[in-house]
Amino acid sequence: MKILVLNCGSSSLKYQLFDMEDESVLAKGLCERIAIDGAVLKHSPTGKDSFTLETPMKDHNDAISAVISALLDKEHGVISDISEVNAVGHRVVHGGEAFSTSVVINEEVKKAISDCAEIAPLHNPPNLMGIEACEKIMNGTPQVAVFDTAFHQTMPPKAFLYAIPYELYEKYKIRKYGFHGTSHKYVAAQAAKLIGKPIEDLKIITCHLGNGASVCAVSGGKSVDTSMGFTPLEGLVMGTRSGDIDPAVIPFIAAKENKNIKEVEAILNKQSGVLGVSGVSSDFRDIENAEKDGNNRAKLSLELFYYRVAKYVGEYAAAMNGVDAIVFTAGLGENSGAARKIVCGYLTYLGLSVDDSKIGVRGQEIDFATADSKIRALAIPTNEELVIARDTKELLK
Ligand code: AMP
Repeated sequence: MKILVLNCGSSSLKYQLFDMEDESVLAKGLCERIAIDGAVLKHSPTGKDSFTLETPMKDHNDAISAVISALLDKEHGVISDISEVNAVGHRVVHGGEAFSTSVVINEEVKKAISDCAEIAPLHNPPNLMGIEACEKIMNGTPQVAVFDTAFHQTMPPKAFLYAIPYELYEKYKIRKYGFHGTSHKYVAAQAAKLIGKPIEDLKIITCHLGNGASVCAVSGGKSVDTSMGFTPLEGLVMGTRSGDIDPAVIPFIAAKENKNIKEVEAILNKQSGVLGVSGVSSDFRDIENAEKDGNNRAKLSLELFYYRVAKYVGEYAAAMNGVDAIVFTAGLGENSGAARKIVCGYLTYLGLSVDDSKIGVRGQEIDFATADSKIRALAIPTNEELVIARDTKELLK
């Protein structure tokens, strides 16, 4: 069975084609600058030469058509007929309260995804465009939606409710949803395997530290709390997002800077986080380099970031009344030994002790706690695409 996994953004589209016999990746790639001049497709077939194609893409239909042409290409392709693709799995960012699992897409599901666009305006509309383009071009091929929010639907009300008038939750569903669920679910499951215990018996805190960043408390395999909220703005300090902030700051900035609420929201989403504090970049590598060159604000932005991660780990250890393992994943968590070292340095009170010879290992699953550490610390490369492919396969059965 071959499954195409798609992650559609407003101007980009990432794809991977899986052979589910052995879960191998046959090809992967990326379309960029969709609906913008200079659109480009970068296609990497496994075991064959990669290629880059500049071709106009006025919309997601054109992008999907370009992907299919690449998959069928005589020289760089990996299939000979589109009917070999048995199903398409889509990453969908917001499923609201409607979805606690992945689902086969039908008209009702599309309507629910569209209904959530109001609270995920940057993500759900392009996700839906990708779905509709596939319906048009791959007519009859089953499609599945895998939601970033679904894993967190097990959070209890005390974790997901905000202390605002309850009627606002009832009327508008204002509550914490949480994101990165596919990643948290995957790395927690892998952690249990690596530790060699059933996930049902474990309390795990997963730290997804990338450009977007969130922490999740996973008790017995279920998400019981997570740092992102109604939108992906809440929680940790991120590349360009402020994370937690006193809401009273918003009207204050609006008044002082003569901006409306939407403009202040844009500042918190796009000009804040480590970018805002450092003034250097949203990319952690740039900031680490600037820090090495003696840039004090770069140093400060990293201090804020790590301090917030450590505080969330402490919060979730309290929420679960204990923790067996802490997991690091995503760009920074998977690759930066320095990041792991600083966060773990805050956590010695939990009985965590790390092995310096293992803490910097990259590109593989590793338990870098010492043998006598009271809790485990792991780095696990995330694989959201594989989870989407597996869920899609499962639903097709
Ligand atoms: P992601 O959003 O998961 O793709 O993560 C992107 C972030 O990971 C960027 O800020 C990168 O700078 C960061 N990152 C990737 N590799 C490294 C590395 N070797 N050291 C530090 N940060 C890294």
